[in-house]
Amino acid sequence: MRLAEFLASVPPGVEEKIDELFKKREPAYLNAPNVSLLGLDIEIYCDNRKCKGTRFFYAISTPQLEFKQYLNYNDVYLDYWCRNCGQSKKTFALRVTRGDSSSNDGVAIKFGEMPSFGPPVPSRVVSLIGPDREIFLRGRRAENQGLGVGAFAYYRRVVENQKGRLIGKIAEVAKRLGGSPEVLEILEQAARETQFSKAVEDVKAAMPHALLIDGHNPLTLLHSALSEGLHAKTDEDCLEIATSIRVILTELAERITITLKDEAELKQALNNLMRRGNS
Ligand SMILES: [Zn+2]
Repeated sequence: MRLAEFLASVPPGVEEKIDELFKKREPAYLNAPNVSLLGLDIEIYCDNRKCKGTRFFYAISTPQLEFKQYLNYNDVYLDYWCRNCGQSKKTFALRVTRGDSSSNDGVAIKFGEMPSFGPPVPSRVVSLIGPDREIFLRGRRAENQGLGVGAFAYYRRVVENQKGRLIGKIAEVAKRLGGSPEVLEILEQAARETQFSKAVEDVKAAMPHALLIDGHNPLTLLHSALSEGLHAKTDEDCLEIATSIRVILTELAERITITLKDEAELKQALNNLMRRGNS
């Protein structure tokens, strides 16, 4: 693995062997290596509103490293700026360790990075889960790091805490789509129900078709993922289930937002989708 790939794709706390991590000074009068970063761009997500996507970032400077007989590692900060907007910065803190002085290869591990590691969380999900945004983000971080039990526990808390809010949003959609008073009454009552399994059961008949995911009721999917996760044996099983919970929540948020958009925008979105499908 090369340093650029390591910085972009490996979460904090994971040690990796890096090829060509160091670059010798020319002339190598002190035989002290330099991190061979300068000029090497990395590709990461830029949150600036001008970008909102994966962009190239460049390193402003390369730290000078000094290795001693009794200390074969250096702790360094690396600053990167987005080449596209020039306004977002990404900072990594890492430890780089040298094996033997004749080789340019080494080992790196991140202490952390700001903004934090991982793909961005769509703002629609954040607005769907509201007050539990922070817990959801923790779940996302745990998921990124492969911590299945942790990710599952965080997502479960989000769904259980926000079930009333989710059903409330579903009721909004039903109302917008001209749902009958009976349907709206069922949804409003379910939003107040404290037992999730009871709420899911009650909502079954009242779920708007526009919110079905591949023909399935998203609340039923969430509920069965939560029940399954409680009995999952391994961290890997939990991770898989946690990922499904996140994907369903994201999809539900997308569908709710799209349905609540006004007619013109919806029409435009559909036109765009058709065009894509035809191209
Ligand atoms: Zn940018």
